[in-house]
Amino acid sequence: MTITSKLPQVGTTIFTVMSALAQRHGAINLSQGFPNFNPADALQRLVFEHMQRGDNQYSPMPGLPLLRERIAEKMARSYGAIIDPDTEITITAGGTQAIFCVVGAFVGPGDEVILIEPCYDSYRPSVETMGGVAVVHALQAPDYAIDWAAVGQLITPRTRLICINTPNNPTGRTLAAADLDALAALLRGTDVLVMSDEVYEHLIFDGREHATVLTHPELRQRSLAIYSFGKTYHNTGWKTGYCIAPPELTREFRKVHQFNVFSANHPMQAAFADFLTDADQYLGLPAFYQQKRDFFLEQLRGTRFKPLPCEGTYFQLCDYSAISDEPDFDFCKRLTQEHGVAAIPVSSFYSDGRDDKVIRFCFAKTDDVLAAAGELLRKV
Ligand code: GLN
Repeated sequence: MTITSKLPQVGTTIFTVMSALAQRHGAINLSQGFPNFNPADALQRLVFEHMQRGDNQYSPMPGLPLLRERIAEKMARSYGAIIDPDTEITITAGGTQAIFCVVGAFVGPGDEVILIEPCYDSYRPSVETMGGVAVVHALQAPDYAIDWAAVGQLITPRTRLICINTPNNPTGRTLAAADLDALAALLRGTDVLVMSDEVYEHLIFDGREHATVLTHPELRQRSLAIYSFGKTYHNTGWKTGYCIAPPELTREFRKVHQFNVFSANHPMQAAFADFLTDADQYLGLPAFYQQKRDFFLEQLRGTRFKPLPCEGTYFQLCDYSAISDEPDFDFCKRLTQEHGVAAIPVSSFYSDGRDDKVIRFCFAKTDDVLAAAGELLRKV
């Protein structure tokens, strides 16, 4: 029997590979992005209470109405965005599932999708599973500056979607309002949609404000914005997120979502609906993670790693060219095996494997772990 792979180039994701390697070698795992601390006790208790109350069967397909209402309130409070909870919000099984549904709903064979690399490693395989073609604008270390005129050159009559991500995984850079204006100008008069991955919306530092497509007068009409409770409430394993888009786009999104997972975790949704009423829980996030970023940067002082600017997310990029000229994957493997700290090679976020000798550390860890990692990194 011959099996025809739809994704012949794809192996196991780098996040799984590096986490497994870290575990095998007992290394400190700063590779895959997840916190090593628990979500708030109160939130955990709410999940259990809802389970005991009987919220254990399927939730409505688009998500619990109360949760969608609370999200709409949060978006109004945070950004002044007016969102209709019934027709514009869909609760998903995490951000990655939402991304897959956006692509599934709007991209068909031969359709082109513009990716700005380095980007999260699910974008391209999602496009290729649907028979779409990824068209890439590749950014370079250390600035990772987007040349919007060059992005504009990539638009053709086959372009269906462009994917943006701010704050950005892995670069840690953010888009400014002017970037969204530049994108809006490029798309004016086209039918190109925008997938705006905003899962790190609250992890933004040094007084910056998150630039969301939801309040952009032009982009709002053509955008599907994606969010993640996992990033906001320290529970990436609960796999709950959501997609916000105008009614006509949400209608198509839900056609795919309902046959992909049907609905997301019911007790988690009920707990998030209760917990969202306490805005302090997420308003404190920029300060919380900025302290971690700065603590990790202090740990890196005296190493030969050169940190690149980090404006948001819980990722710190470092140039290691003063230490080695090995390919970044080999360097990460050796760092894990010989030095006891796991990181992600940034080449994994480029489809051509571009290697600028930059690796990504996740600093969503308790200070003791970051300090222990620092001690090991100072010996590299
Ligand atoms: N988004 C996280 C990261 O970039 C992990 C996602 C995953 O493991 N699939 O590390």
